[in-house]
Amino acid sequence: MLAFNEPVYTQKGIGYISEAILKNKRLNGDGPFTRECTKWFEEKLNTKVLLTTSCTHALEMAALLLEIQPGDEVIMPSFTFVSTADAFALRGAKIKFIDIRKDTMNMDETLLIDAITERTKVIVPVHYAGVSCEMDKILQIANDYNISVVEDAAQGMMATYKGRDLGTIGDFGTYSFHETKNYTMGEGGLILINNQEYVKRAEIIREKGTNRTEFFRGEVDKYSWVDMGSSYLPSEMNAAYLLAQLEIAEEINQKRLRLWNCYDRELKSLKDAGKVELPYIPEECQHNAHMYYIKTKNLEERTELIQYMAEMGIKAVFHYVPLHSSAAGRRYGEFVGEDRYTTKESERLVRLPMFYALKEDEVVYVADKIRNFYAGR
Ligand SMILES: *Cc1c(COP(=O)(O)O)cnc(C)c1O
Repeated sequence: MLAFNEPVYTQKGIGYISEAILKNKRLNGDGPFTRECTKWFEEKLNTKVLLTTSCTHALEMAALLLEIQPGDEVIMPSFTFVSTADAFALRGAKIKFIDIRKDTMNMDETLLIDAITERTKVIVPVHYAGVSCEMDKILQIANDYNISVVEDAAQGMMATYKGRDLGTIGDFGTYSFHETKNYTMGEGGLILINNQEYVKRAEIIREKGTNRTEFFRGEVDKYSWVDMGSSYLPSEMNAAYLLAQLEIAEEINQKRLRLWNCYDRELKSLKDAGKVELPYIPEECQHNAHMYYIKTKNLEERTELIQYMAEMGIKAVFHYVPLHSSAAGRRYGEFVGEDRYTTKESERLVRLPMFYALKEDEVVYVADKIRNFYAGR
């Protein structure tokens, strides 16, 4: 069976994990490997970052830093992973789901103003498939209404909007290093703190509400409990595994883009024949080949295609069940406006195998089977 995903493997990553254990003899958070990862991101992104235990936790940190209170409202697309909503629901926020654009599957920025009330505190654009939301318009609106922006860039590392790295554009950005993402440490994430005034408190919240980070820098002579917080530091073993991938980040990105472009070429004839839709990348967006998906005619055709692919030894998958239609989504949030595309488009979407170790001839094989499926349809 051709897998849908395999976590990135590098030989060097194993070496670095051994080094953390045997040479450094230091496995808890914020050791040399975490510092190297942090330095790499800060040089690339030119903003303050902290490595976290997940993207979910990075989003939780953003919600804590923005002091989200019960009754506050947070606007996001319904077509996203649960964590986008969870992080704010945990603070008692009411989630306001808005519809997506059919072309990018991202939040429809033209629907924002109608969803804003006096209680709106945050807008959370989710950069689906590493393709940026329309950030200029979103920031403009956020500015006009004095609302914060947290970019869920879980899928967005190495992707840009008008040349700016995703995650660096809003007040906060978050990355995921879950094993299904382009760069992985098993479970892990990153918070990008683009507004300097939050940096000190972010360090404290991440370290169980203590000023231990300042203590380690020699800025205070003892550390103690100074604020509320939690434990959002990943282990050095995980950071070590990630660092090896950061060192070849561009190579990984280029390989993924080659695979993505290969799918796109191979499936173009089906698109031209009007049988399927392929991903759309707006002019101002450079994507990172996080995912390759196609859209079938409807849910029934998608179910048949996934079944056929399984018979051909290929694992193809779909996601997400729109949050507003899930049990928790109904409890913690509500859809604002009309669901024109969220449900309909999510039911048509199929994700194809896409991972670093995937081979170009495997992509050709997958595309060939999809063409076979559509022959005679
Ligand atoms: C993967 C993902 C997350 C969660 O990331 P974790 O690191 O697993 O917590 C959140 N939002 C989106 C859009 C994702 O794709």
